[in-house]
Amino acid sequence: MIKQHFLLIDFFSYLQSIMNIGQGVLIILKQIIKNEEHISSRFYCIFFGKAIIGLSCLMLISCTKEDENITAPNETIKIPVIVHIIHNGEEIGEGPNITFEQVKSQIEVLNEDYRKKEYTNGFNINSVGADMEIMFFLAEYSPSGNKLAEAGIDRVNGGRQEWPKGILRNPIETTLKPATFWDPTKYLNIWTVNFGGFTGRDLLGYAQFPSNSGLAGLNSDGGLAETDGVVIGYKYFGSSQKGDFDYIFSPFNLGRTCTHEIGHWLGLRHIWGDGECDVDDYCYDTPNASEPSYGCLQNKYSCRSYDMIENYMDYSDDACMNTFTIDQKSRITTVLNNSPRRKNLYNNYKELVQ
Ligand SMILES: [Zn+2]
Repeated sequence: MIKQHFLLIDFFSYLQSIMNIGQGVLIILKQIIKNEEHISSRFYCIFFGKAIIGLSCLMLISCTKEDENITAPNETIKIPVIVHIIHNGEEIGEGPNITFEQVKSQIEVLNEDYRKKEYTNGFNINSVGADMEIMFFLAEYSPSGNKLAEAGIDRVNGGRQEWPKGILRNPIETTLKPATFWDPTKYLNIWTVNFGGFTGRDLLGYAQFPSNSGLAGLNSDGGLAETDGVVIGYKYFGSSQKGDFDYIFSPFNLGRTCTHEIGHWLGLRHIWGDGECDVDDYCYDTPNASEPSYGCLQNKYSCRSYDMIENYMDYSDDACMNTFTIDQKSRITTVLNNSPRRKNLYNNYKELVQ
């Protein structure tokens, strides 16, 4: 339907352009027929004016066509990923210096969850459950064009055992990210860190929201380019179902922390809207909830409806999540079309991955 609309506009624009040029020629001919010695400069102006309008229209059509290709509907969005593994000098596979296999297991989870892939944890039969049509790929090349030793991985000795969490996570924002980020118009930057001593339910990860999406519920300024991306505790990154990663902490051991944080990074809010029943997440198909859900509370009821505890944007255990909705997809599509950096990402897939 959208494509037909564009074609119709194209046809009339071409017609208009040709008519403009034609009118210019006609004006010149009329003057010649009238046997005027000189064609006044005014008529030249009209001629050139008409011709320029015609040519401008043709150029505009070309641009419109390019844009149309970028946002072609029903095309899977492919996002290159770089994971900055922040360690403190440990061997690979020891503590926060996680293995390539652990990173790979996380990417697999993302592609199951964002594609609602059958026969995986990411599948659901919810009537509003959406295939987000986004896929994530480990980048093969660095910003300078060098082939990476390990696809999608940038190992960094951060020079400290632990990174403060919560409000005191400033060293991550002020020092670590600006020193290590890769061009966020080309890569989704993920940092894995050791947030600090484990104290039960704690900070698992956090994300930077997009800027200038125009969406309700988001500030126009999501943050700086140099801090753009998501940060995940290394014990909650990847899936213990996909390898021998005993230290990944249950019940957050199936990679859903990253699925959730990338949801924020793409403009989604928590399904309870970070408030009570009168606060929304701006999606009609995620029932209002009065608070987050913890654990796996089937049939949890609040705000006159059952809570969608299986939604990735709730706080349920990893094993209880399997749903993004159609309205959530719509928000993410808006972000990918409008937000600085996000809208450029998927154009770089070919350059960085293959
Ligand atoms: Zn969250």
